[in-house]
Amino acid sequence: MRPTVLNPLFALATSLSGVGPKQDKLLRYLLDKGDTPRLVDLLLHLPSNVIDRRARPKIRDAVPGTVATLEVTVDRHRPSPPGRARVPYVVYASDDTGDVMLTYFRAKADYIDKILPVGAKRYVSGTVQMFDGTLQMVHPDRVVDEAGLANLPGIEPVYPLTEGLALGSLRRAVAQALQKLPALPEWISPEVMRRCQFPPLGEALHRLHAPLELTDILPNGPYWSRLAYDELLAGQLALALVRAQLRRPAGVRHAGDGHLRNKVIDALPYALTSSQREAAAAIANDLQQPVRMLRLLQGDVGSGKTVVALLAAAAVAEAGKQAALMAPTEILARQHIKTIAPLAERAGLRVAILTGREKGKERRDILARLAAGELDLLVGTHALIQDDVAFKALALAIVDEQHRFGVRERLALTSKGDAVDVLVLSATPIPRTLVLTYFGDMDISELREKPAGRQPIDTRTVPDSRIGEVIDAVGRAVNAGKLVYWICPLVEESEAIDHLTDATKRFESLRERFGDKVGLVHGQMKGAEKDRAMAQFAAGEVSVLVATTVVEVGVDVPAATIMVIENAERFGLAQLHQLRGRIGRGSESSTCLLLYREPLGEMSAARLRVIRETTDGFRIAEEDLKLRGEGDVLGTRQSGMPGYRIARSEVHAQLIAQARDEALKIMRDNPKLTGAQGDALRCLLYLYERDEAIPLIGAG
Ligand code: ADP
Ligand code: MG
Repeated sequence: MRPTVLNPLFALATSLSGVGPKQDKLLRYLLDKGDTPRLVDLLLHLPSNVIDRRARPKIRDAVPGTVATLEVTVDRHRPSPPGRARVPYVVYASDDTGDVMLTYFRAKADYIDKILPVGAKRYVSGTVQMFDGTLQMVHPDRVVDEAGLANLPGIEPVYPLTEGLALGSLRRAVAQALQKLPALPEWISPEVMRRCQFPPLGEALHRLHAPLELTDILPNGPYWSRLAYDELLAGQLALALVRAQLRRPAGVRHAGDGHLRNKVIDALPYALTSSQREAAAAIANDLQQPVRMLRLLQGDVGSGKTVVALLAAAAVAEAGKQAALMAPTEILARQHIKTIAPLAERAGLRVAILTGREKGKERRDILARLAAGELDLLVGTHALIQDDVAFKALALAIVDEQHRFGVRERLALTSKGDAVDVLVLSATPIPRTLVLTYFGDMDISELREKPAGRQPIDTRTVPDSRIGEVIDAVGRAVNAGKLVYWICPLVEESEAIDHLTDATKRFESLRERFGDKVGLVHGQMKGAEKDRAMAQFAAGEVSVLVATTVVEVGVDVPAATIMVIENAERFGLAQLHQLRGRIGRGSESSTCLLLYREPLGEMSAARLRVIRETTDGFRIAEEDLKLRGEGDVLGTRQSGMPGYRIARSEVHAQLIAQARDEALKIMRDNPKLTGAQGDALRCLLYLYERDEAIPLIGAG
């Protein structure tokens, strides 16, 4: 139950005056909310800038191009001539030093008469310019009389907006919300308040939304930082509460004696790299601990994560328990099972796959075997977290490409067993600060070496004016028996960017040239069709596979040695790296051709340069971070930290560690969040929408 003290903040924005259905819609969009925003959402929408109205010059001294507040007497009106609404309505005003024109386009005469009556003294505030030798203010932001002057803020916040939403109306809504801010208990410990010199919440919100100084709204200033810390603390506390759930009942261990793992290793046609061995050993050790495993296995595409995951599953099977491997796409799930099934069979591990495609009797059989404990490892997609999927003894959840899944999905899978261990596989190296923000304290294993025998990839950039030569080169490669990926960015007119080559069109044009040696796979095809296309390519029946980014993750056809990427300038670095990782997997050398459309923008040119120069995923991730900011490393659109509105990794990195330490301290001293401090912290979790974690308090 939400603490009642928060009720005023959780009132709907539509309860404010001036916020009707139209503003509601715009605010939902602006604040990225599915429902009508609450007052708290408005208050956490922080200004991006300020307008300084404090300059009060005489007309003679006003500086063109700046915002000024002038004290004037209204002299006369010059309305737009009848029938010529395009000519502005001008109000002439003056002080004892000169004249100023107050210019209105498409104005209503009676409105102007009302606010600027001839002969009256008024204060007008706005940006001044010179026009034909006279000072002019076009559409003054504010016009007030003597009485209104007291309410004219010297400094006004400017907010990020969305089209159709007027700054004034957002400002009025926020100002009303600020009025309703109740007194809240302080959740930050006195120690941290002192050490970081944080202001109280109310002061922080007031100074941000009604700034007294221009610097009040700076993200690295005390007011914004206080809110950033709150947000980070809420995030870290929620993670810590989840983590506290992770102790397993005494005596339960999830790894056996190694006999199945040895069989898997014996069945491998290659030797494990030393980082694969280290990762497998670290996982086995975790599985033996009284605390549940929460480990991230990072490794570049092709570094061999699947077999490490299989060894983890084998360890669990030795102890008579089950494992699940959840992948974000059908293709990827099938790829895993393809690698895993032959090894599992030789080792005597019982595996199956469950996706949206297994239906009817087939699905019922799988579920029956799963419930009876006749399956050791179930590989699949989201289908694994459906309600009727029940394990006999799930002990290990392996989640591939984690950041595509939300916390909810992760919890849904782990809740299908007791004290389930979690292994996350990621091909995108995630910077340490982000791991902390999203996963809390997670252990990390890295696969830094490539399996032996890999050939380097020769990457070249080619302007698309030379596509004819590229097609000729593809022709020669096909004749020499090579397999070629041809990647296009989009399928059909899902986006109206007309110059983007559409995969279907490219498929047709290549077909004219190479006949049925060309195949097509894209995201809108049915699962079975996709598999058939992939299988034909893997078997060499099709030599050129035209594909959208569905091949991005995990697909493994070692014989493919050439990749053409069209409109490469439109892809992000991480995506290009992932795509290119589909080649260079066999013992033959590979070539990647990046076709780009001229002229290349600066950012695109920089990305293509990085991708040409290196195949080291960790380096690429670092460059990516430099080029685009951390949000995009996780593949999300806005910069900043996804899921965080206020904290910014580049400004508040220090606070992340502070918040983590504080969360750990709270978990040590007051894990059930009792007493006054506990109540305050519960408020915090609600304010930042981390209350999902509240039911976990003290449970288990
Ligand atoms: P990732 O999932 O990390 O991108 P995979 O697990 O799909 O990589 O492995 C890529 C390919 O490398 C697979 O064909 C796999 O059989 C092979 N492989 C894995 N480990 C080794 C190794 N130590 N030596 C040689 N080949 C390996
Ligand atoms: Mg993989």
